[in-house]
Amino acid sequence: MKIKNKLLLMIGLLLAFGGLFVTKNQVFAEENQQEKLKIVTTYSILSDMVENIAGDKAEVYSMVPIGTDPHMYDPLPDDAQKVSEADLIFYNGFNLETGKGWFQDLLDVSEKNELAFAVTENVEPMYLTEEGKETEQDPHAWLDVQNGMKYVDLITEKLIAFDPDNEDYYQDNHNEYIKALEELDEYSKEKIATIPESQRVLVTSEGAFKYFSKAYGFHAAYIWEINTDSQGTPEQMEQILATIKEKDVQALFVETSVSPKTMETVSEESGVPIKGTIFTDSLAKKGTDGDTYIDMIKWNVDHIVEGLSE
Ligand SMILES: [Zn+2]
Repeated sequence: MKIKNKLLLMIGLLLAFGGLFVTKNQVFAEENQQEKLKIVTTYSILSDMVENIAGDKAEVYSMVPIGTDPHMYDPLPDDAQKVSEADLIFYNGFNLETGKGWFQDLLDVSEKNELAFAVTENVEPMYLTEEGKETEQDPHAWLDVQNGMKYVDLITEKLIAFDPDNEDYYQDNHNEYIKALEELDEYSKEKIATIPESQRVLVTSEGAFKYFSKAYGFHAAYIWEINTDSQGTPEQMEQILATIKEKDVQALFVETSVSPKTMETVSEESGVPIKGTIFTDSLAKKGTDGDTYIDMIKWNVDHIVEGLSE
């Protein structure tokens, strides 16, 4: 009896320990799975693209707040912290995040230059046109959806290089997202083709629509060429008012990431109404129209077509 009891006790203990080990291993495996990549992007449009590809494998932190201009930005202590902890960092490049060197300084301080990738790496640049600025790249390449697809290709490539175990997952997300972007590009082309050609003049505050205009057949006019310029000088005002008159422009647009004041003055002085608010350098707040890259482009196309077709 005694021996039998001892044996049972031992078996019981073994089972208990075995069970304990299994549980511990399971917990460890689960913790490992929950260890997500830490990705930082400079602005909201890139965050949305990264989230589409990285899905639940990453935590994505976007620095420049929604509705704010990424050309000029004063990083917060939180931003510096996130950059120093990041596995990967994505930025636009092409002269976007250059105001007072805010982004480069952040990389230098945290010694993260090697983990930071410009999503425009494989995009053909367009240049500023103002005198003395012809060698500076125009950053707004994402407003042509074909370029947006190149951004997404690069993001996917870097994710796979960093985390090859999840290659299939990233590749599947990539294929699905690219398909949606191809449809968006097609939609934009078809819809814009309905505007009579002579009415395809797009007037905005910042000259953010170079790539967009080239891709979708517009003439783009603006008050100032890039947000890092002085905004609304007397010369700029004179020039845009002359263009509006010369091209017989019927509608003006204002971007969500700039102050509407200057365009309101242009509207008053020209007698041409502001027909819509459109997205350039930032998505809309989560839960509102335009809160994803696809939605913001669709919103822009729909409102531009509506405003210029009347
Ligand atoms: Zn801009």
